[in-house]
Amino acid sequence: MALIVQKYGGTSVGSPERIEHVAEKVLAARRAGHQVVVVVSAMSGETDRLLELARRIDPDPDPRELDVLLATGEQVTIALLSMALQRRGCPARSYTGAQVRILTDSAHTKARIRAIDEARVRRDLARGTVVVVAGFQGVDEEGHITTLGRGGSDTTAVALAAALGADECQIYTDVDGVYTTDPRIEPRARRLERITFEEMLEMASLGSKVLQIRAVEFAGKYNVPLRVLSTFQEGPGTLITYEDEEAPMEQPVISGIAFNRDEAMLKVVGVPDQPGVAARILGPVGEANIEVDMIIQNVAEDATADLTFTVHRRDFRSALGILERVARELGAREVKGDDRIVKVSLVGVGMRSHAGIAGTMFRALAREGINIRMISTSEIKISVVVDEKYLELAVRALHEAFGLDRPPEEARAQGSPEARKAAEPPRNALR
Ligand code: ADP
Ligand code: ASP
Ligand code: MG
Repeated sequence: MALIVQKYGGTSVGSPERIEHVAEKVLAARRAGHQVVVVVSAMSGETDRLLELARRIDPDPDPRELDVLLATGEQVTIALLSMALQRRGCPARSYTGAQVRILTDSAHTKARIRAIDEARVRRDLARGTVVVVAGFQGVDEEGHITTLGRGGSDTTAVALAAALGADECQIYTDVDGVYTTDPRIEPRARRLERITFEEMLEMASLGSKVLQIRAVEFAGKYNVPLRVLSTFQEGPGTLITYEDEEAPMEQPVISGIAFNRDEAMLKVVGVPDQPGVAARILGPVGEANIEVDMIIQNVAEDATADLTFTVHRRDFRSALGILERVARELGAREVKGDDRIVKVSLVGVGMRSHAGIAGTMFRALAREGINIRMISTSEIKISVVVDEKYLELAVRALHEAFGLDRPPEEARAQGSPEARKAAEPPRNALR
């Protein structure tokens, strides 16, 4: 007998019929002899609907009240699923985050889980009851309802699995696993049998919304076996694993392509090139709680510098306002902004031991006439910023260039010349 935490996302519980289907899946796991804790999201579209309602009252609503509102979405589905289970003769009980006592900090709308009191859940499980928990929500020390940020039900599931020492945490969704890239953008994307925590973390932080980044962090930290599967079709899904140290050569060079549409770029042109200038520009941006992602500074012949950086698109207007003020103070020539850009990233632990990846990437984009506006690299990823209109083209061109539509062995052995080149041993070149 195993203890399994299953999480069903919005689409999976999007109608009464789908909730019945989820009940059948839970029953099947129980019939197989497992103890089951189920975490559910709000019905698809519900969280967006609630957000829109709030915005019609106040464009910038109080975060505490917003959490009270948003948490109602998941409360609906826990009750409906418990009813569906009970109708099938299966003892089931629903709990909100506060009832379990999923204790979080007080950062409304983006709270972090601090502790979970799992005693009640264990008692129910011991009695043979299926425990149905509302995802995405918790409660702070003061008893205020909090939510965990968009996609937060994944994190609830993994955190519960960690607290209970579950044998597996299964994330059921509308795709049958983690793909080489979002299958909605590239229909030739391939399901990965496995992906490392490290790669999944990069994919999530670079924009792949299939798992919330904190869920992956939690699973890696607490050693929770994590699997992404389809609610609608049987299959092994994708297992998130530790890097296989035994067989590093089995690792594909590139595991996947992530992209992020929520990006905007700002540029201060012609600032005097002096110590402290970057701090004077970026300081006020940080003070306004605006997170800066990529940063580039280049110095021109005339001893002035240009500073370019990216922020979340929602912060574009306020960042622009701040820069215009700072630019005047610094005597900069000009401030420019563009909120029609996207970031496209290649992710793979195999990059560590392979050169030539960046070259292959840049050539593939150049062949399509796609101009690269910014570049940033780290040990296991390369990101480029390109115009928004090129997103699909860039993702598909890179998918092809790295042979991602074929199994890694095949891509290496008989793949495109580009893929073969990418698999060559390291040289003394830029990656
Ligand atoms: P849920 O509501 O079940 O939590 P999400 O919409 O949050 O589902 O996540 C699933 C979606 O993630 C898929 O429908 C897919 O479009 C998107 N996605 C983005 N990148 C990937 C990827 N690399 N692999 C699989 N799905 C991806
Ligand atoms: N309902 C929340 C959202 O739409 C949480 C989740 O689905 O994971 O973001
Ligand atoms: Mg999700």
